[in-house]
Amino acid sequence: MRSAYTGRLAPSPTGLLHLGHVATFLTAAQRAHLQNGTLLFRNDDLDHERCRPEFTNAAKEDLSWLGINWHSEPYIQSRRISLYRDAFSQLRAAGWLYPCTCSRRVIAAALNAPHPIDEEPVYNGHCRPTSPTVFPEQNLRVNWRFRIPQAELLSFDDGCQGLQQAVAGEMFGDFLVWRKDGFPSYQLASALDDMLLNITEIVRGADLITSTFRQLLLWRSLGHSPPAFYHCTLLADDSGRRLAKTHHSLAIKTLRDRGFSPEEVRALALNAPRIPLTH
Ligand code: GLU
Ligand code: ZN
Repeated sequence: MRSAYTGRLAPSPTGLLHLGHVATFLTAAQRAHLQNGTLLFRNDDLDHERCRPEFTNAAKEDLSWLGINWHSEPYIQSRRISLYRDAFSQLRAAGWLYPCTCSRRVIAAALNAPHPIDEEPVYNGHCRPTSPTVFPEQNLRVNWRFRIPQAELLSFDDGCQGLQQAVAGEMFGDFLVWRKDGFPSYQLASALDDMLLNITEIVRGADLITSTFRQLLLWRSLGHSPPAFYHCTLLADDSGRRLAKTHHSLAIKTLRDRGFSPEEVRALALNAPRIPLTH
């Protein structure tokens, strides 16, 4: 019988998987397996400029080669836009969202999960209404932000990192929910999928902890209680910096081509040096 545990693998097909991904995905697979649970595959392909189908295929191939398996067909975010639209409407009608006409510079990255280099800056509040307001939907040619509860202390108990706390407005501000080009932000798409797919535990990199606080607000505003979280400590490269997709030499594909076995790659990922959490 299927246990209640449901986890997910959620790669973004913007490059080849590297050891850092493997460490996280191995953990996700192990935790699902231990609970006799279900593991889903979600293709985070909303960034039409950076995502490529060949990277989705490469990710599936690398994961299968490593012995990481998932249940059912992948969920493809680019085919789920109408679901995100409905959630957007619900949040808007409840007064959580407001249109923002500020510069385009900050908007560019909103389709991707923010990792340290592209973390969404704290918004200066220029377009923020003084109180919750229901704005008409007609103005879809602008970006929409979530009006966070300023100064509220948010917390969650992380399965790997322990108690995590953040004050709304300090580590993150009013974040983007919908882009004027018709796409939901990563925050909305990820949180909504996790709700709709009944994910019980989210396993992902510790660099997404700030996003988790944003998503906790989305869960609450959409009337759901949040799942459990397990944020994996990030891997360091030789110089102690965070591994990035651009470290091509550590791509799983490269290691495979060099003759490494799945066991060896798994061991490399599990034994690699880690970057301690700094906040
Ligand atoms: N696709 C995201 C990334 O690669 C991860 C999203 C998530 O786990 O919520 O960073
Ligand atoms: Zn604005």
